[in-house]
Amino acid sequence: MGFFDTVAAVSTPRGFGGIAVIRISGDKAVEIAERMFVPFEKKLSDVEANRAVYGKIYLSETDGKKREIDDGLAVVFRAPHSFTGEDTVEISCHGGVLITDTVLRAAFAAGAKAAGAGEFTRRAFVNGKLALTEAEALSSLLTAATDDQLKLARAGASGTLSRGISKIYEDLLSVSTAIRAKIDFPDEDLSELSDEDIERGIKTALKDAKKLEATYKTGRAVAIGIPTVICGRTNAGKSSLYNRLVGDDAAIVTDIAGTTRDIISETVSFGGVTLKLFDTAGLRETDDKVERIGVERAKDAIRKAELIIAVFDGSAELGEDDLNSISEIENSGAAVVAVINKSDLGQHRDTDKIKKKFKNTVVLSTATGEGIDSLSEKIRSLYFDGEIDLSCDAVVTNERQHAALVLTSDHLRSAQEALELSVPVDAVCSDIERAMSALAGIDGREVGEDIVASVFSKFCVGK
Ligand code: GDP
Repeated sequence: MGFFDTVAAVSTPRGFGGIAVIRISGDKAVEIAERMFVPFEKKLSDVEANRAVYGKIYLSETDGKKREIDDGLAVVFRAPHSFTGEDTVEISCHGGVLITDTVLRAAFAAGAKAAGAGEFTRRAFVNGKLALTEAEALSSLLTAATDDQLKLARAGASGTLSRGISKIYEDLLSVSTAIRAKIDFPDEDLSELSDEDIERGIKTALKDAKKLEATYKTGRAVAIGIPTVICGRTNAGKSSLYNRLVGDDAAIVTDIAGTTRDIISETVSFGGVTLKLFDTAGLRETDDKVERIGVERAKDAIRKAELIIAVFDGSAELGEDDLNSISEIENSGAAVVAVINKSDLGQHRDTDKIKKKFKNTVVLSTATGEGIDSLSEKIRSLYFDGEIDLSCDAVVTNERQHAALVLTSDHLRSAQEALELSVPVDAVCSDIERAMSALAGIDGREVGEDIVASVFSKFCVGK
């Protein structure tokens, strides 16, 4: 399939539904749709743009005969006023799997090619309807599972990040233009920017890039999620906490030690942070073969975790198993929140040792729910800086964007150093242009085909 082909795909999910939508996009969209969709009143090519018309849908059989296959609505969108920026026809038919497949087959028989994964959005990007960051946000919008993910994706899709990137890019463009003018016409005072302005321009761009880069801590915590392990000795209340966070009885809770043997996991939004939560077997020495495998898996999960919620029974003395889990946790390098559980039973004096050992501690009772809010605030404070508003601030949400911003900052720091060392200005200019190129890759104004292909391969067909 070439870029100039007219393509078609089903844009609604596969399955049974009231309706399904087949989207046809490209130069020949109307011509192709006209061969398979006949409105009752006038020819499809004469129908006003953006208006739904009712008609019959036909499949051209191989013998040349046309067979009526369904009836439905068609909407014609004229370039550039469509999602893809091309002529587009959307046909809504009845939502059965076979009907939908047959209508799509009718589009192919009428001359459309099959659209690839993310093909419509890729065309929207190539036609300048969307920045790459907006296309990525659109993809996140479809898969959002928490309110905060939705907020973030909506803001991204409306261009918050691409505007943030654009601002830095434009600022750097005026700095590099000024430097180029100085290089090309050293004797004429063509540049509107003084040396101090140039220095300040680089400094501001670096500050802005670093600020955007820092939003990834929150963006990642919301959009991608933090692998989080609940661990501790048996009967500390790990499964009870897991159930509190997940919101149902996913994990078995008993006072029989060693009940949780395998790792169970669930993704939840807690304190606005998306936690990929793992409940693990209690860490203890055991002769039970199956439980021992569970303990090994728990240790492995601890090593891979980014956040550990270490649960202690605050009503009891710290035992050998607690101390062993503390050393296991200390070796992991993850962020740790120590939960001193069972506050409803009073606190043993050993809880002071836990408070001394861990920077982040929360006293709570999974039985009564008291203190759960403090845990939520504590976890939020680890990933939110307080000033971020997910609905309107520019936030970096994936590794591709983050890596490019790190590169931008690196080049800007080199430019700054070069300036301080009085290196010839063309070297400074090269660093600035490299920074601009890294930025341009983020919103896609300048980006390699491999990156574009990789971004859109994550989309589904029909998007
Ligand atoms: P795990 O082995 O660490 O997963 O611990 P469980 O969640 O299975 O809990 C072990 C026992 O402690 C169960 O009998 C729970 O009902 C009890 N338990 C858990 N949390 C609390 C709490 O906050 N207060 C009280 N009183 N009991 C709790």
